[in-house]
Amino acid sequence: MPPQDIAIVGAGLAGLACAKTLAAYDVRLRLFDKGRGPGGRLATRRVEVEGHVLNFDHGAQYLTAHGAPFAAVLDAARAQEWPDAGRHVGVPRMSSVPRALAEGLDIDLMRHVCAITGTPRAWYLHHLDARLVRPGRPFPTQPPEVEGPFDAVVLALPAPQAQALLQDPAPHLAGVLQAVRFEPCWALMLAFPERLDLPDTLRPDVGPIGWAARDSSKPGRDSSLELWVVQGGPDWSREHLELTPEEAAAKLLEGFAQLAALHAPGTTLPTPFFSAAHRWRHPLVEAPLGAPCLWDATLGLGAAGDWCIGARAEAAVDSAAALVAAIRSA
Ligand SMILES: Cc1cc2nc3c(=O)[nH]c(=O)nc-3n(C[C@H](O)[C@H](O)[C@H](O)COP(=O)(O)OP(=O)(O)OC[C@H]3O[C@@H](n4cnc5c(N)ncnc54)[C@H](O)[C@@H]3O)c2cc1C
Repeated sequence: MPPQDIAIVGAGLAGLACAKTLAAYDVRLRLFDKGRGPGGRLATRRVEVEGHVLNFDHGAQYLTAHGAPFAAVLDAARAQEWPDAGRHVGVPRMSSVPRALAEGLDIDLMRHVCAITGTPRAWYLHHLDARLVRPGRPFPTQPPEVEGPFDAVVLALPAPQAQALLQDPAPHLAGVLQAVRFEPCWALMLAFPERLDLPDTLRPDVGPIGWAARDSSKPGRDSSLELWVVQGGPDWSREHLELTPEEAAAKLLEGFAQLAALHAPGTTLPTPFFSAAHRWRHPLVEAPLGAPCLWDATLGLGAAGDWCIGARAEAAVDSAAALVAAIRSA
């Protein structure tokens, strides 16, 4: 019999798509995420600086739909084309896409799930206030909240995080995830006081920068602002992964200035009035699992995400659909 009490960990595209589809069946659902809002890597950073509200899409840059399910997600979110036909962005920001998908779902936000205990088809989730769990700091000693039993748990997390949670309850599933690899990426957010003499997108072949885009040129943005997102290329980001954000920001800004000078010789970049770098350890899939999802019907444990299929957001939705089909046929 298919599970009736299901916990989903992760409210990125994969977790939201799982929840949305499962909600149509007569099941009790709980959805947890450590973020302040849903969306995961379809992320928008909001900052207030010098009287301006700045929104940067510092995660996924644009979305492409090859199949009907993701096209329907983009349609429902009223995503628009940018920078050209066939590529889409959320409007007025990238996080609008997952937020549209999350409508009507109850999500326990700011909850960091740190362990799964129990027995097959009777699982307990241990979770902590996400503000207590900080990379590079000792793991909090506070006792976690424990909820359950759930007869199924779905992990809609990047593979390394799913692997850590599966290690105790299902080491064989955790082992399978070892083969999955991600390319890291440093993303630099920049606000300039004046317009730069550059095209809206740049994808250089050489140098530290892999991609640069005028974020404020996307539809529905405040075009009076000059906002850029500049990504380090995968090799550069891997080599410089352990820099501090300040160090990474300085180096990427230097790389961007060189790139700008190549495009318009003699150009000097104005000093940005806002600059911040964000390190993504698991942004884009380099080596996927090669199976659409993971599901052990006897245990009632499964996992979904882009990393099952490939390096694009659509893969997260397709993986979720495959996992729901597997769960319903249990
Ligand atoms: C810099 C960057 C650029 C990208 N560019 C593109 C692009 O141009 N085009 C494209 O198609 N795709 C792009 N992507 C990839 C795309 O964003 C992903 O494929 C997609 O968002 C993956 O969705 P997901 O649901 O599988 O995972 P995620 O979005 O990572 O969702 C996982 C969720 O789990 C939560 N979580 C993690 N650990 C825990 C825990 N212990 N407890 C509770 N919650 C937890 C996280 O907060 C997150 O919300 C890019 C990604 C990045 C970061």
